[in-house]
Amino acid sequence: MRGQDRALPEAPIGVAVIGGGPAGLSAGLQLVRANRRIAILDSNRPRHSATLRSHGFLTRDGAPPLELRRLGREEFESYPSAIYAQAVVREVVPLAPEEARAAGFPDGIGFRVRGTGIRGSADAEFTARRVLIAAGLTEELPALPMIRAYYGTALHSCVECDGFEKSAAPLALIGETSDVFARALLISRFSSDLIVFTNGADTVTPEQERQLASIGIRVERRPIDDIVGDRAEMTGVRLADGEVIPRVGGFVRPRWHAPVEFLGELGIERDGWGLVVVDERGETSIRGVYAVGDIVPPGPQQLIIAAGEGARVAAKLNMDMIRGALGVGVVDE
Ligand SMILES: Cc1cc2nc3c(=O)[nH]c(=O)nc-3n(C[C@H](O)[C@H](O)[C@H](O)COP(=O)(O)OP(=O)(O)OC[C@H]3O[C@@H](n4cnc5c(N)ncnc54)[C@H](O)[C@@H]3O)c2cc1C
Repeated sequence: MRGQDRALPEAPIGVAVIGGGPAGLSAGLQLVRANRRIAILDSNRPRHSATLRSHGFLTRDGAPPLELRRLGREEFESYPSAIYAQAVVREVVPLAPEEARAAGFPDGIGFRVRGTGIRGSADAEFTARRVLIAAGLTEELPALPMIRAYYGTALHSCVECDGFEKSAAPLALIGETSDVFARALLISRFSSDLIVFTNGADTVTPEQERQLASIGIRVERRPIDDIVGDRAEMTGVRLADGEVIPRVGGFVRPRWHAPVEFLGELGIERDGWGLVVVDERGETSIRGVYAVGDIVPPGPQQLIIAAGEGARVAAKLNMDMIRGALGVGVVDE
């Protein structure tokens, strides 16, 4: 079925999975193997599209991220109850209990899902017993004109993913959030030649600055003008006052947004960083709506964590639906 989407059937779906990254594909695979009818809708905007190699995924260390996706999609689609559609989910609306029962959902919980087809695929509209949000995160990098040109090559966001390749290099950490101190400590495992650029933000305390200084890490609080380089190679960070501090690469801490606009007015609980809060089973504050992958805390935001959590939450979802059919609630152990 590669290259064309299997048509969405008239029959209702067990779980609508929003997002076909490692979290959604892994959950989808477990759920079709549990004999569930699963639809994955994906808008084809993976977070790591900026990079050519992904690291740390056991058996696939160094594989191109798109290759991982291709393999995952193929495995999922090899099951007859698997549906994969290239579509942007626009709307998720809970059904009234009687509507849900009429749709064949025994516990009276269900959702209408609407999406717009992309790349020539048809629009999607169907009902599903449960929704799993695996939509990843959208990233907002510090507002520096050239930063995108170096993101995914010289500058990365995931220290666990790309720190090893930066060993012993003169590095920058650019971040305007309060977690830059912890990130700097993590990066110090790879290079002692590290400068933390706060870009004018007051996010490193004097005590943290003292601790960083004790291991040779400097904090640069002056605002940044831009990243500078020679063709594809990053060569430094230019400050607003014109000084260029030589750096060959490093890390940036983007601000993240959980892309859940399709929930409309439905309130969903988020944490202080804007990520979606879930309980220990992966269910959000909306009954029947689960979330997994980068979009939920605490991370680390890595492919293998997203895939592993996808499998774990799939097991909880499956049991929730089994229990729901018996009318015995969601407690599963
Ligand atoms: C530059 C960069 C490099 C990285 N390198 C590594 C690495 O080397 N190793 C590693 O382990 N991790 C790496 N990561 C982190 C890794 O990419 C994430 O942890 C992982 O992709 C999270 O998986 P996910 O399934 O939660 O989300 P994603 O992989 O982001 O997938 C989410 C999917 O949901 C789709 N989506 C969003 N909204 C909708 C909607 N409304 N309707 C339909 N679909 C929607 C998106 O298009 C996307 O395809 C990197 C990240 C970045 C940014």
